[in-house]
Amino acid sequence: MRQDTEIVDLAGIGIGPFNLSLAALADGIPAVATAFFERRETFAWHPGLCFPDAMLQTSPLKDLVTPVCPTSPWSFLNHLVEKGRFFDFMSARFETVSRQEFSTYLAWAAEGLSSTHFGASVESVRYEDGYFRLGFDDRPECRARALAIGTGRVPMIPAGVVTGPACFHASRYLEIRPKVAGRRVAVVGGGQSGAEVVLNLLQQDGPSAPASIDWISRRDGFWTLQEGGLVDQFFTPGYLAAYREMPLEVQARALASQKFASDGLTPATADEIYRHLYRRRHLEGRDDVCLHPGRNLLHIRPGGCGQTVVSSNAEGMREALEADVVVLATGYRAAAPSCLAGLGSRLALETDGALALGANYRVVWDGPDDNPIYGLNQGRRTYGVIDPQLSMAAWRSAVILNDLCGRAVFPLAEEDPLVRWRGDGESDDAGARPLPRLTAS
Ligand SMILES: Cc1cc2nc3c(=O)[nH]c(=O)nc-3n(C[C@H](O)[C@H](O)[C@H](O)COP(=O)(O)OP(=O)(O)OC[C@H]3O[C@@H](n4cnc5c(N)ncnc54)[C@H](O)[C@@H]3O)c2cc1C
Repeated sequence: MRQDTEIVDLAGIGIGPFNLSLAALADGIPAVATAFFERRETFAWHPGLCFPDAMLQTSPLKDLVTPVCPTSPWSFLNHLVEKGRFFDFMSARFETVSRQEFSTYLAWAAEGLSSTHFGASVESVRYEDGYFRLGFDDRPECRARALAIGTGRVPMIPAGVVTGPACFHASRYLEIRPKVAGRRVAVVGGGQSGAEVVLNLLQQDGPSAPASIDWISRRDGFWTLQEGGLVDQFFTPGYLAAYREMPLEVQARALASQKFASDGLTPATADEIYRHLYRRRHLEGRDDVCLHPGRNLLHIRPGGCGQTVVSSNAEGMREALEADVVVLATGYRAAAPSCLAGLGSRLALETDGALALGANYRVVWDGPDDNPIYGLNQGRRTYGVIDPQLSMAAWRSAVILNDLCGRAVFPLAEEDPLVRWRGDGESDDAGARPLPRLTAS
């Protein structure tokens, strides 16, 4: 493999946690030359939502490297040791880690790795003579044998909604820092981002408090995350392997039923919101917060003074409310980045706009097998509920690097799964097989 800095074995587009994990693990393979490019000037992890009290929904041990290479220098624990705060951290007895702390760890790794380049927006990708050519506005082209697409998911703006300073996606909340004092604020979206924005609004007190807060959710309740050892079995290599074997319609049912294993409110956030509501109503006599579950947003249009948010309820009846500021906590969607337009119809897409993935996270494309394109965070349909989560990031990186190197650089010892997800029986009683059991170790 070549060591030339302009011609690399693997070029990564985007430096979020997922490509960063790839960069961190690749750092331990001297024979593989890599370069990772990020359009931001410095590392940032969802900075618009990095509230000081927001907590990681995953264990910090599921960091960039530990699940597959605990001896790597790029682990969360090594970060604590290098920064000289291991003992202080342990004494704090955190139940989990704040997103701010995890973000600091990610930034430390991003700055320390020599393969990362910031202020480097990839504008185009062409394929020529066995290489991908990455084009930038203000730096020389980079040539790579393989690509890793780590550009993340993009904010979902409901159809027809025009965004601006008074109506914007939650991903920009802390960047915009809307003036809410004495104003009517509506938050649309009943997931964790919506909850964190609502909590932040509830924390504004005295003269900085909003005049009112309305929280609208399509979900029929403010559902919390399903947690615990049994639920966590979905976030294991064993389940991932089983999911990959399922027929399409079974995968679709599984994804729908697992929604709140990955996409619910952190119970601590939900409890904190509830306590605020209780205090306001019963101890302070204030009725300025209203929760509206089961409402489907129809449109938002400029009103007489402010904006009119129109929704329909479970019985199909329309309702409207006036707001000065609307925060769209309406989630994210998968998308192929626009810089791949040069590869055009050579890439296969899923119906939701994600890059279609085959084995080993390879994007399905009509180019040579020697020039793989790996899709990170593109596989919610193909790789299941775990794909957009941090839980399997290191595992996925190891699978990709093993595939790129053509050998098991990271021996991914399959743990014998505790749960027997699938059997091999047939559809009638005559073909029934004994239920699969655990093998005694
Ligand atoms: C607020 C929030 C909190 C979350 N918390 C958790 C959690 O606690 N636990 C968990 O398991 N999951 C969590 N997730 C889900 C998931 O882990 C994160 O979304 C994670 O950031 C995904 O990483 P990524 O690398 O795919 O993308 P991102 O973090 O979105 O990074 C993509 C990067 O690509 C860059 N980029 C895009 N296009 C280009 C280009 N053309 N050239 C150069 N750079 C480009 C972007 O600037 C960006 O920095 C959270 C998600 C959100 C939104």
